[in-house]
Amino acid sequence: MEFWYTEDHTDEVKFSIKVDKHIYSENSDFQRLDIFESKEFGRFLTLDGLMMVNEKDEFIYHDMISHVSMAVNTNIKKVLVIGGGDGGTVRELTRYKTIEKIDMVEIDELVVRASQKYLHYTACKLEDERVNLYFEDGIEFVKGKESEYDLIIVDSTDPIGPGEGLFTTEFYTNCYKALSEEGILINQNESAYYETNAREAKRAHNKIKNIFPIAMAYQYHIPTYPAGHWLFGFASKALHPIDDLKAEDWNSLGLKTKYYNTELHKGAFGLPNYIKELLESE
Ligand code: SAM
Repeated sequence: MEFWYTEDHTDEVKFSIKVDKHIYSENSDFQRLDIFESKEFGRFLTLDGLMMVNEKDEFIYHDMISHVSMAVNTNIKKVLVIGGGDGGTVRELTRYKTIEKIDMVEIDELVVRASQKYLHYTACKLEDERVNLYFEDGIEFVKGKESEYDLIIVDSTDPIGPGEGLFTTEFYTNCYKALSEEGILINQNESAYYETNAREAKRAHNKIKNIFPIAMAYQYHIPTYPAGHWLFGFASKALHPIDDLKAEDWNSLGLKTKYYNTELHKGAFGLPNYIKELLESE
């Protein structure tokens, strides 16, 4: 029987999807997981009542979290993904033959197991032989690591609950240390539109730019997240996301992508004025 899944985007705004079936619901030690089936967005996963991933628009999120860094440093071999339990980020990364190792650290094993059972579209590459799964807190995992990774992707929930510590100066400093000379950090940098998200977007960006010499934000549109317009952070010790873009090299790989391309790559860093002002303010 059809019913409506409804999520609070702010105290004043709600977002609803007509749903055919509620196929899974479980409380883990960390959060509540639900999976629904809908005509418009296919199967989707929510954590604590917030949309994480759905079959229809996940390509936007996963293209933009994965390919931007890979087109800037085509020599990335060792990758750490923190969070990302649905597997979509790992799926995109496994497309690069040059990547030798992907460590994925997800605090909540249940997210991975539920995704493997119900969300094959994102979880389909978690068994790739280069992928090592760790069910641990990413905050602890990264502590004490030195120059171990060429790329760290923080594919996290919002800074509430288990994701809170992934938005701290201490964590970003540990990521800096864990990265190699030309290392890149990509982080889920919230949205600048509604006030609560915007506060977090600014805080995260300010912290990262105090640690990394190169720190910028780039945008993507995503229909099912609040406001539909979100940011990732790009930070590096040495590489600039536009000056060091290896467009020809990336295009010669012949990867077929539904959202990302190297022209869009450059444009994604051209932010609207209200976002530039927000991120530049202390
Ligand atoms: N696409 C998503 C979004 O922005 O809405 C993020 C997807 S992913 C499912 C986020 C994952 O981060 C969750 O599965 C959550 O369990 C995990 N996570 C949250 N805090 C974490 C931590 N401290 N260490 C490792 N994983 C964490």
